[in-house]
Amino acid sequence: KSEKKGNDDANYDIGLQGVGDGTGIVTRFPPEPSGYLHIGHAKAALLNDYFAHEKYKGRLILRFDDTNPTKEKQEFQDAIVEDCALLGIQPDQVSFTSDWFDQLYERCVQMIKDGLAYADDTLQLQMREERMNGIASPRRDESVADNLARFEEMKKGNEEGLRWCIRAKMSVDDPNKAMRDPVVYRCNPQAHHRTGDKWKIYPTYDFCCPIVDALEGVTHALRTTEYNDRDPQYQWFIKNLNLRMVHNWGFARLNFMRTVLSKRKLTKIVDAGIVSGWDDPRMPTVRGVRRRGAVIPALREFILKQGPSKNIVNQDWFAFWATNKKHIEPTAARYTAIDDAGRVPVTIIGAREGVVSEDKPKHAKYDLGNKKIFFSSSVLLEQADAQSFAQDEEITLMNWGNAIVRKISHSVNPLEIAKHGLKTVAGLELELHLQGDVKKTSKKVTWLSSDQSLVPIELVDYDYLITKDKLETDDVLEDFLNPSTETRTKAMADCNVAGLKVDDIVQFDRKGFFRIDKAFAHGEAVVAFQIPTGRSK
Ligand code: ATP
Ligand code: MG
Ligand code: MG
Repeated sequence: KSEKKGNDDANYDIGLQGVGDGTGIVTRFPPEPSGYLHIGHAKAALLNDYFAHEKYKGRLILRFDDTNPTKEKQEFQDAIVEDCALLGIQPDQVSFTSDWFDQLYERCVQMIKDGLAYADDTLQLQMREERMNGIASPRRDESVADNLARFEEMKKGNEEGLRWCIRAKMSVDDPNKAMRDPVVYRCNPQAHHRTGDKWKIYPTYDFCCPIVDALEGVTHALRTTEYNDRDPQYQWFIKNLNLRMVHNWGFARLNFMRTVLSKRKLTKIVDAGIVSGWDDPRMPTVRGVRRRGAVIPALREFILKQGPSKNIVNQDWFAFWATNKKHIEPTAARYTAIDDAGRVPVTIIGAREGVVSEDKPKHAKYDLGNKKIFFSSSVLLEQADAQSFAQDEEITLMNWGNAIVRKISHSVNPLEIAKHGLKTVAGLELELHLQGDVKKTSKKVTWLSSDQSLVPIELVDYDYLITKDKLETDDVLEDFLNPSTETRTKAMADCNVAGLKVDDIVQFDRKGFFRIDKAFAHGEAVVAFQIPTGRSK
């Protein structure tokens, strides 16, 4: 498949034929409950919701495509319901493919009776070969009675039944390989999370999808463009089973650089303990990107901006995070944190007597309320800032004013020197020069008075899980896993940070945007995740 660059003009009108005034439109989002929603699923969900509820006054069905008990769990189903709600999607109806198992079974029996389906025991690999080369299965022309008997064995889930599957009799050698007698039923004795051990046979996606769409009154089945080849097969079922008309409609799959969007691979990453779970901030799940600091309106904007374009683009995360930054910037209060490693005690000459606190706005541009800033003669600075100072240089202490560097004491501690270099600063004296012009200094540094209840904090930055921009289908995931994806930095934050709550999004001056993942409690450090903003640091 070729990858084109750029985007189509997103035109939300085209393609949906037979719409009328739009009141009759029914779309569906059909996730398999075999994992948490990733942002590719979010695209499918949001587009279906857009057509059903925003563009037209139609209906949206959330359908659990639960036909493979081996992979599906209640936990995943519950998480998908929650995540749809989180995305602002309100389905008009929730349904389950498993609710249709009786009808699907009856339809399959009817197809066998009509000579439109047959039982096959060709081994899987050989069947693949034969379908590739357009060779008919020797079972293709067995009698209806034999086919029905074998389907009954499958239904029992016994050893004999397990050998067989049911295939639709479409074509042996159609140029479109999707038309070459696709499998419609398989035997699987494993219990199903909703139907228990009632069924030992399960319909395939190819078979269920057109039937359940038609029975539920779906008018437009939106699918990613990889399914284009399977549209004729879908329409074959509609026609041969005398079902209600459904339009197929393709949109581009969402792909991201250095990211896997396949539940099978994401399950591997979770199960191998490479991340802490489906909501780990490194996961491309709806929960993961939220935990990393993405907000839902930004996610919606990013996805709906691409609209129903059919160009498959390997998206850059920068564009995603740049959209997010636009949304979080006006709400992110600003605070200060100073790294623990190598932090420098500073004596301020000319500070007012004692400890003084003042109320100052949390943001210079947006009205986000006030915070307390403490001023005193003893403050802390970061090592890198201290090392950059020259004797008698005039610098600016942010939110205070200018000061002149009067004394720099270098460290003689070999351990410190090993960590921070020969110029390791052990202490500083700065003389306030508040009449100095802050516009004229080149260094504007963060500082914290040590005479306040400083809040311990851990700042966590994450990297991509994958080392290759675009994983190919035969790439082995394990070969492209990034060995180091988490950087934790211990720091001290100003006293106001003690009041922050989980999920608050803030900015630490000169460090960037962060989402609070753990609030301050019982003296245990706050944990804050760095939010990417779209440019590389
Ligand atoms: P996965 O490989 O992640 O399991 P899937 O298609 O097998 O993907 P489903 O739960 O069946 O998973 O997907 C639900 C819906 O989401 C389907 O309509 C599917 O086409 C759509 N979808 C899945 N991945 C993407 C993606 N990367 N971009 C857009 N839509 C997607
Ligand atoms: Mg699927
Ligand atoms: Mg898939």
